[in-house]
Amino acid sequence: MATDDAVDRAAELICRSHYMVAFTGAGHSTASGVPDFRSPGSGLWQKHDPMLVASIWAFRLNPKGFYDWLRPLAEMMTQAAPNPAHLALATLEEMGLLKAVITQNIDNLHQRAGSRRVLELHGHTRDATCIRCYAEVPMDAGIEQQIRHGHVPRCRCGGVLKPNVILFGEQLPLGVWHEAMEEAHRSDLMLVAGSSLTVTPAADIPFSAVEHGAQAIIVNMQPTFFDARANVVIHGDVAAILPRIVEAVQTNL
Ligand code: ZN
Repeated sequence: MATDDAVDRAAELICRSHYMVAFTGAGHSTASGVPDFRSPGSGLWQKHDPMLVASIWAFRLNPKGFYDWLRPLAEMMTQAAPNPAHLALATLEEMGLLKAVITQNIDNLHQRAGSRRVLELHGHTRDATCIRCYAEVPMDAGIEQQIRHGHVPRCRCGGVLKPNVILFGEQLPLGVWHEAMEEAHRSDLMLVAGSSLTVTPAADIPFSAVEHGAQAIIVNMQPTFFDARANVVIHGDVAAILPRIVEAVQTNL
């Protein structure tokens, strides 16, 4: 079967690489039950217009609408567990083969799977920032409970707290962006897993890696514009394919 060959070729590239970096997106977490946060066409966007709830303008105008939208998503993320794709990347890092995971996801599942170097391009929900005084506070149990009960969490100054996720209309966190680009340029192998690379500027990162000479593997359900640039293309579920690649790497070493 063609996929077996592709898995073996991916494993070979990984074994020969000196600095592999992974780039992951929503498709990496769907097997964990986390719906696609940003891309149009997913369940979340069929119910809500993202610009009306998940943009920075909407947040400033109607934080309650934002939190009403976030609540079920946050519940799903809390209940979700890392899937075999997350564990496969953690294993590759443990083996010293994977140097960093650059992710578009905000669900914390890479860290929960054991990945240590994770660059979160679209932020995370571990902390929140006051939109009035810019104080940063951890999203502790108290804040989570307020959100669960339909309240808008507030800072000590009275300002509204915004989770440290990047909303539409906001810039990506500059520090993380530069680090991710540095990792991409340093990499000699870029593994794209579970991203259709449609959300820019995040999607520019794997392209930039290839332009700087990296080889590339992509594992994604659907074909992407990146397929033509990759050395190995596998259309399939990352939760099924990545563990097979790790297994092949382990037999190759
Ligand atoms: Zn404040």
